Amino acid sequence: MKIHTTSYIQISRKALENNLAFLRAQMGPSVRISSVVKGNAYGHGIEPFVPLAEACGVNHFSVFEANEAYLVKQALQQPETEVMVMGMINNDELAWAIENGVSFYVFEMDRMKQALKAAQRVGKAARIHLELETGMNRTGFCEQGWQEAARLLRENTEHLRFEGLCTHFAGAESIANYVRVTRQRKNFNRIAKWFRSQQFTPSLYHTACSAAAIRYPPTRMDMVRIGILQYGFWPSREIFIEYSSQLDNKRDPLQRLISWSSKIMDVKSVKAGEYIGYGNSYLANENLRIATVPVGYAHGFSRSLSNQGRALVHGRRVAVIGMVNMNMVTIDVTGLEQAAKGDEVTFIGFQGDMELSVSSFGEFSHQVNYELLTRLPANIPRMVVE
Ligand SMILES: *Cc1c(COP(=O)(O)O)cnc(C)c1O
Repeated sequence: MKIHTTSYIQISRKALENNLAFLRAQMGPSVRISSVVKGNAYGHGIEPFVPLAEACGVNHFSVFEANEAYLVKQALQQPETEVMVMGMINNDELAWAIENGVSFYVFEMDRMKQALKAAQRVGKAARIHLELETGMNRTGFCEQGWQEAARLLRENTEHLRFEGLCTHFAGAESIANYVRVTRQRKNFNRIAKWFRSQQFTPSLYHTACSAAAIRYPPTRMDMVRIGILQYGFWPSREIFIEYSSQLDNKRDPLQRLISWSSKIMDVKSVKAGEYIGYGNSYLANENLRIATVPVGYAHGFSRSLSNQGRALVHGRRVAVIGMVNMNMVTIDVTGLEQAAKGDEVTFIGFQGDMELSVSSFGEFSHQVNYELLTRLPANIPRMVVE
């Protein structure tokens, strides 16, 4: 007996190679690329993605939380590859991180002191990335905090290895935030100068996410933390337009890694005048042929795609009609006479020459794309393909 999930995901090796080559060319040889794999590698799956990225030359990964760091560690093929936690790590997880050489952000004094204690206990230095508040007003030390943190770092070099000085920009993907980001850059540079003047020598100054790395080259410094670009998506349309305006051909240099497909479970005809699915959100204006597909919001297909989403069947683009249900969605296959039970339905990715990007689900914000990717459930099987 064979039991299947109702959909499956494929991850393209060629696309990742292409995107990393693009990024390396853009960033130059002196900038290290940290591959950001929070949110289950933006839905691509930490388990298949991490070894794939390593095989493509990546040797530094960034995650949000300790649990993700643990999963990355499990997936690693090369022992020297580094892992960094940019966000949440509980005090009682610090010893694990230190023991396993996982570096982590410190942005408040309690974590700093607990890290020192844990390092003393473990007998190994904690690898600290000091995060500065420069204007995002999320995490990051304000002036008094980093002054105090600097003192602790100076007094405990045996147990606290000052590895990085960093910050994060509040929306580098939108020109509307130009003034704010510029102010953040100035703040960071001013504080970095102070650290240098005090003879601190962290090896990694890092500030840039995908958008900043493209739009504000001086923010690249020693390392860039690249999430969305490596997966083949632009952080915003604006960044792509700005980048491609220097090109003769306006071709997108990135390729998407992910494709997500399911199969038709049933096909039937519906007469004009009938409603389709729950309620009255879709009225058949003509005689229709519809197909049901066993993918719904429980599988990560957002309800906001009701009457909006698209899919590919037999290389043709078709519409989602009616409400997205918990486990099913209905698509309009009128005029596709060959569409039958068992045929492949693609929600993201290629069929023949036709591509359905996440963003072609309609006029949705990029937030919807990030969200759709990261909400693809971990239990959908992911396969690496060429
Ligand atoms: C998510 C994240 C990134 C990567 O962002 P992208 O826009 O996907 O490149 C970089 N730095 C921090 C602190 C992040 O949280």
